[in-house]
Amino acid sequence: MRGGSAHIKAVILDLDGVIYRGRTPIPGAKETADWLARRGYGPYYLTNNSTRTREYYAEMLAGFGIHADAEHIVTSASLTARYFRDNGLLPATALVIGEEGLAEELRRAGVRVVRRRGKRPIQFVVVGMDRQFTYRKLHEAQQAVLAGAELIATNRDATYPVEGNVIPGGGSIVAAVATACEREPVLIGKPSARAGEAIVRYARVRPEEALMVGDRLETDILAGTRAGLRTCLVLTGISTEEEARAAPKEMRPDFILPSIADLTGLLDSAGGRGGRGR
Ligand SMILES: [Mg+2]
Repeated sequence: MRGGSAHIKAVILDLDGVIYRGRTPIPGAKETADWLARRGYGPYYLTNNSTRTREYYAEMLAGFGIHADAEHIVTSASLTARYFRDNGLLPATALVIGEEGLAEELRRAGVRVVRRRGKRPIQFVVVGMDRQFTYRKLHEAQQAVLAGAELIATNRDATYPVEGNVIPGGGSIVAAVATACEREPVLIGKPSARAGEAIVRYARVRPEEALMVGDRLETDILAGTRAGLRTCLVLTGISTEEEARAAPKEMRPDFILPSIADLTGLLDSAGGRGGRGR
């Protein structure tokens, strides 16, 4: 059943390490995105970053010459907002440890966002990347959870890639909060299956008709496998071909390509023989 690229109808592209690194576009990204749009593959863009709104990414992609509607962009912040809607959790008050993009996406979905405990009961503590994280915020989150709030994590990425380096990711902050509360959070972003499932529903395709393209085995590829999608690792980011071949089954991609520029060849090849299947 798996292996060939035939019958792929939708393509989901991770951003960092696939479309760009830091602020530098990966060669061929624009041409491939244009080609995918012309052929009706979407494409859909999926990032675990929770600090920005979807409109920010639409503008950022436009800066690379890539046209993407905000509806085709999914972030761990927009997925978290969707989690509240899809699970009938509204109205809700959430203490948010995170940056403005997360707060904005939650507010738009109808969540009452607070930054510290007050008189109203807090039903949820939502934690994402927060470059203004403090001991006080950690204490606020801990007390809210100990008083009964549910703990939600936008993502658990340990690191966050920046030009030529990494900085602590949202997962580092989630770990601090989870440790202080002695509680396991609900995980929203990759590698949970939620993003893939949501995009497949929106694109009106079956899971096996969608291809998840990413640069990280333990988030992108695992998220794709868990959602029942086909998966493709590109070698322009974090994970290497050797790691992919040695990975446990759930994290082993169906295809490995040098870069996004090679995706058109994979999708064009009848029966998918152009791909380097596993
Ligand atoms: Mg990436």
